[in-house]
Amino acid sequence: MVLRIYDTLSRQKKEFKTIEPNHVKMYVCGPTTYDHSHIGHMRTFAFFDVVRRWLEYRGYRVTMLINITDIDDKTIRRANEEGVSFAEIADRYMFDFIRALRSFNIRLPNIMPKATSVIADMYYVIQTLIDKGYAYVAEDGVYFDVSKFEDYGKLSGQKREFLLTGVRIEPSPYKRNAGDFALWKRRKEGEPFWHAPWMDGRPGWHIECSTMIWKYLGEQIDIHGGGTDLIFPHHENEIAQSEAFTGKKPFVRYWMHVGMLKIEGEKMSKSLGNFITWFKALEMAPAAAWRLYYATNAYRQPMNITEQGIHQAYETVKRIYRAQQALRQAIADNELGDESVDVTEYMKRFEDRMDDDFDTPGAVAAMMDFINAFQGKIYRLNEESARTVLKTLETMMYILGLPEVSVDERTARIIDEIVRIRSEMRREKRYDVADRIREELAAAGIELHDGKEGTRWFVLP
Ligand SMILES: [Zn+2]
Repeated sequence: MVLRIYDTLSRQKKEFKTIEPNHVKMYVCGPTTYDHSHIGHMRTFAFFDVVRRWLEYRGYRVTMLINITDIDDKTIRRANEEGVSFAEIADRYMFDFIRALRSFNIRLPNIMPKATSVIADMYYVIQTLIDKGYAYVAEDGVYFDVSKFEDYGKLSGQKREFLLTGVRIEPSPYKRNAGDFALWKRRKEGEPFWHAPWMDGRPGWHIECSTMIWKYLGEQIDIHGGGTDLIFPHHENEIAQSEAFTGKKPFVRYWMHVGMLKIEGEKMSKSLGNFITWFKALEMAPAAAWRLYYATNAYRQPMNITEQGIHQAYETVKRIYRAQQALRQAIADNELGDESVDVTEYMKRFEDRMDDDFDTPGAVAAMMDFINAFQGKIYRLNEESARTVLKTLETMMYILGLPEVSVDERTARIIDEIVRIRSEMRREKRYDVADRIREELAAAGIELHDGKEGTRWFVLP
């Protein structure tokens, strides 16, 4: 099966073909760094992390860019509230974002530029748009004239007339059309500014993405991602700017959008008090559980986060790690038999699901069926089969972004010793102490399994 990706612009699944042979250029709109990252961000970036891993599995080299919107109304407002510079706010929450990515086992992008690092390049892009007649200098800023761009509205499917006259997203008496958007905003009292050729001020939001894509990835890219909330106006405006600037179409081959989150059926918002930051999420369940939870929901659909849902995902993910560790130990301790198994059918099903527009719920189902199929006979497998099963399982786990879970050598020795002491306790029939040790270890993610051959221990996420 070939990889097919749903493209928001053409509203259909299309066969994946890169612009450059075997090289994927991928851009995902990053966060505005004025507050802690939350589980909605993590859903989007975890998904594109899976996309990247899958493309690499399919043999592509992937160059991935996530931008940082460091200058924005929100960073400025927060900076003024705290009496610090916007750059301090932006850096604080950029580092928070990086910690969040790492904590959720989301690989860092190849390039992660800040909007303010490409201001000079924006001058060039904006001036070119003015020279070509797509943008104009007004009293309070430089605007993109949406009436000059014929395809305006093609991504979001909005009516052109409506966009020209009806939408008032950025109110200004100086705009030619209601839908015109700011490329550059004139300096205001108490705001940071740059000395642009037209007037002192700061960039609009949309121009940063178009500029970075052009600067770091080129005039045309393969994949552009973000949340569905960015389709309009942000991505619509990116298309207008970029295609007007370069004169090349299409600017993006595959537009991919991840659905929004709800918490127990309600919109996530600070005012409702149901805002889940990334670190609060990790107190509810470990990253592995969140990654599986995200993966069991189709990426284009809205996702409803529930207490029960994350709990269930945690239980399921423990089964995956138990299977992995049982296999690892069986191989390491040579507790094997002589049965052989064929895993190709399971891997093929997993691959087919992933190739079908990243159907991760289907891929998770294939992985769980695979685990169910061999779990009862781990100790009967011959070594070659056991190794193949383990490798296949770990490949699936890696693609779905499930983190490696293990303890270091020193901790392993300590656990071994505790387990040995507990075994002595059990021989002496001091079951109360033995049970307490088991419970305490379980609370620390170490699970004991008493069997005929003694006690095994597994480290779980
Ligand atoms: Zn963007």
